[in-house]
Amino acid sequence: MAKPFIIGTFNSGEFLHAGQKILNEGGTAIDAIVAATKQVEENPKDTSVGMGGIPNIFGVQEMDASIMCGKTLKAGAVGAIKGFRYPITVAEKVLEVAPHVLLVGAGAEFFGKAMGCELGDLSTDRSREVYQAFLDDALEELPDDEAFKPYIIEYVQKQNLRKWYDRLADDHHGTVNIMAMDSDGNMASAVSTSGTALKFPGRLGDSPIIGAGNYCDNRHGAAACTGRGELAIRASTARTLVGYMENGMTLEEAAAQCMRDIHNLKTPGGMNCIAIDREGNTISATTRGDRESYHWYMDVDSKEPEKRIGINVPE
Ligand code: ASP
Repeated sequence: MAKPFIIGTFNSGEFLHAGQKILNEGGTAIDAIVAATKQVEENPKDTSVGMGGIPNIFGVQEMDASIMCGKTLKAGAVGAIKGFRYPITVAEKVLEVAPHVLLVGAGAEFFGKAMGCELGDLSTDRSREVYQAFLDDALEELPDDEAFKPYIIEYVQKQNLRKWYDRLADDHHGTVNIMAMDSDGNMASAVSTSGTALKFPGRLGDSPIIGAGNYCDNRHGAAACTGRGELAIRASTARTLVGYMENGMTLEEAAAQCMRDIHNLKTPGGMNCIAIDREGNTISATTRGDRESYHWYMDVDSKEPEKRIGINVPE
């Protein structure tokens, strides 16, 4: 069996230390990935996860998160939630105590409060500035009354929502994917995001959709995605990647095939994934040809996160 380890996507791998510490102490994969995800969620410098996430088109930060346990195949996910310091902890509570898998909006917030999940204002100067810049660009004259939403709706209609969204898609993405295997050989995977910047209110990406942006099964492996979530939903990317392994592909073949499946959708926007198999191999893959694919790795003996280069699968 592989040594306990944790991997994740993000610009630096520092956030993995919190999860590695838990694995070192004999903790579970679930506890390790939650601890590491919280590190990213509370980092105000990042504008695509938790604190500092870029808001939706109405200026509201709506967070998506999910978690899955590879041993029990239990999962918990929340979509479009506001006002929680650590969205992943609300998803974890869904996994632990709810008779449901996915809660969204007001119901998810009600549940999170009832479970005592920590509340918090996630906006930062930077997230407010980005939104203000969008308004300045979108609206010639910004109405100063409360009724500015119709102006945005008009803007969206004028621009053609689909084209506008396609234009945003490449630069306005970011998510954290984290997965781990513990000393019992159990795996778990977590995803957290503020979703596509300036998204339509109520839009859910792949991150809270089990099977699309996140999937984990001890028998075969785990996979999670970042990038334009609509694509991973349409291709059921995370579950499909694990299914490809179940049906005999290697980890690398499965990840590459999933990236080709995304190209087959013939829709703008890039997709990336990270995945592990039950032997403890790790990989990352991207549909893009112009950007390095990588992920960060730490096992219980690592001093520092190791940057592992993945594969590019351009069209
Ligand atoms: N996949 C996320 C979403 O579509 C965002 C991202 O990874 O860029 O919401």
